[in-house]
Amino acid sequence: MINRERVLDRFIEYIQISSESKNEKVFSEKLTEDLEKIGLEVSRDNAGDIIGGTTGNIIAKLKGDESREPLLFSCHMDTVTPGINIKPIIKDNIIYSDGTTILGGDDKAGIAALIEALINVKEEQVNHPTIEVIFTIAEEIGLCGSKNLDYSKIESKRGFVLDTSGEVGTIVNKGPAQDKIDIIIKGKPAHAGVAPENGISAINVASKAIVAMNLLRIDEDTTANIGTIKGGTATNIVCPEVVIEAEARSTKIDKLDKQTKHMVDTFNKICDEENAECQIKVTRVYGQFVVDETDDIIKLASKSFENLGYNVEIKSSGGGSDTNILNCNGIKAVNLAIGERSPHTLDEHYHIDDLVKVSKSICEIIQNA
Ligand SMILES: [Zn+2]
Repeated sequence: MINRERVLDRFIEYIQISSESKNEKVFSEKLTEDLEKIGLEVSRDNAGDIIGGTTGNIIAKLKGDESREPLLFSCHMDTVTPGINIKPIIKDNIIYSDGTTILGGDDKAGIAALIEALINVKEEQVNHPTIEVIFTIAEEIGLCGSKNLDYSKIESKRGFVLDTSGEVGTIVNKGPAQDKIDIIIKGKPAHAGVAPENGISAINVASKAIVAMNLLRIDEDTTANIGTIKGGTATNIVCPEVVIEAEARSTKIDKLDKQTKHMVDTFNKICDEENAECQIKVTRVYGQFVVDETDDIIKLASKSFENLGYNVEIKSSGGGSDTNILNCNGIKAVNLAIGERSPHTLDEHYHIDDLVKVSKSICEIIQNA
C-alpha cells in the first residue's frame, strides 16, 4: 500500500534540503542513503567534475526478473532559485512555500513519489523487471547532468521521466529541439547631434532585421524568439554595437534548420545592406524527441493510468527536459506529469493527493512493465 503519511513526510524532508543547480551534494548523499536502504545498488558518475558542480548524477539499480526488459525512471535533483531555506506550509491538503522561495516540488515530488513506489514494490514483493533510477544534477540550467551522464552504466532502453506539470495521467511524447542564436551587430559610433550621418546605428540595423523576421509561433511544431537585446551607452551617441540572444525550437529538425537559417540569413542580409558587421553563433542546445503514440512505452503508461481510473492525455511540450537527452542517447523515454503547479515561481504549490497518485501510478507501471 502507498503510505500517504510516509510519502508526504519524505517530500517535506526533501524540499527542506536545498539543492540549487550545481549544489546538489547534500541532497544526493541523502538520496544515496535512502536508495541503499531500499536495496538498490547506487553509484555516482563524474558529471559534477565536468560541469563544475558539487556532485555527479546518481545511477541506481534494483535487480529484478531477467526475463523482463529493464525499465528506467529519471528525475532531477536540482531546483531553480531562490531555493535555499524552503519553509513548507500545508493548508487544505496543499503544500506551499512561505512565499519567499520556490517550493521545490519540481522535481522533488517525482523523487519522493518514486522512492515511495520502490519501498512499496519491496514491501509487497511485487515481481518486477530490473529497475534503474537516475537522479540528475543541473537540469534547470541546461540539462547539464543528463548531457554528461555516464550512459555506459545504463542497460535500460525504455524509461519514464517524472518531471512535467499538468494532471497525473498526462504523457508528454514530443519535445522540440532547440537552437540558441547569439548575434553581435557592430555599427559605427558618431555624435548623434553633430554628425549622425557619419555613424551606423547598430540599434537601427537590429530593429530592421528583427522586423523583417518571422518570429514567435511559426507553426504547430515550431517557435522562435528574440530573448534579449542589449546595447547603447547614451542618447548622444549613435549606437555602435548590440548583442542579441535568440532561440528557435521545433519538434521537426528540418523545420528548425529552416527557421534558424531564416533568422541568420535575415541578420546577415540587413547588416550587409546597412554596412554593419554581423557575428552570429548558432548552438544546438539539445535534440528533439518524438515517441509514437502507438509505442509500447506509451501503451504501458496509458494502461497503468487507466487501471487506476486516471484520465490519459498524450501531448507535446514546448520545453526541453532530460527526456530530450535520454532519447538522444538511445533510451526511449516519455515525460509523465506529476502535478507540478506554478513551478519556477514563488507561488509553486503541490497537492498531497497528487503525491499519492504519482506513487500509485509508478507501482502500477512497474507491475505491468
Ligand atoms: Zn523539472
